[in-house]
Amino acid sequence: MKNTAVYPGSFDPPTNGHLDVIARASRLFPRLIVAVTDNQNKTPTHTLEERLLMLRGITKNIPGVSVEIFSGLLVNYLKKKNARVIIRGLRAVSDFEYEFQLALMNRKLSPSIETVFLMPDEKYVYLSSSMVNEVARLGGSVDCFVPPLVRAQVIKKCRHSNP
Ligand code: ADP
Repeated sequence: MKNTAVYPGSFDPPTNGHLDVIARASRLFPRLIVAVTDNQNKTPTHTLEERLLMLRGITKNIPGVSVEIFSGLLVNYLKKKNARVIIRGLRAVSDFEYEFQLALMNRKLSPSIETVFLMPDEKYVYLSSSMVNEVARLGGSVDCFVPPLVRAQVIKKCRHSNP
């Protein structure tokens, strides 16, 4: 597949599940842009800059992967980057409806762009960024859920907000 792919998401923070999807996508596409979005509907725990630095740190040894900040309409961003593939991760059934809607909306906006869904290793199907932040905030260990670099940032950020 001689294409550039874009993996968009909030990555608040990036987890082992995201990293698993990135590794799988990088084996399918020669160039993969991980695009960190500033989703206005969510109040992030980690700033855009922090998420960018975490993602750059944990992907630095994966060939063909770059990390950028993106805002605006996703399909316009892909056109600007000359990319035709959107990568999304699918965990359990709960992801399906929203992801299905998003993929069809993007297809309507730009029929030449395809969304490719990748399933993570089964040990990550229950893993979400919000749970990682919550476990850290309550003093639990997040060692199994995020790479060490992310763990340090999550502990620094979330432990301080412990009530
Ligand atoms: P968004 O705010 O766009 O949903 P996320 O960072 O939560 O951003 O997720 C980005 C993408 O990665 C989504 O397609 C989501 O389903 C997927 N994803 C999130 N966590 C995991 C995981 N543990 N395993 C596989 N895919 C995941």
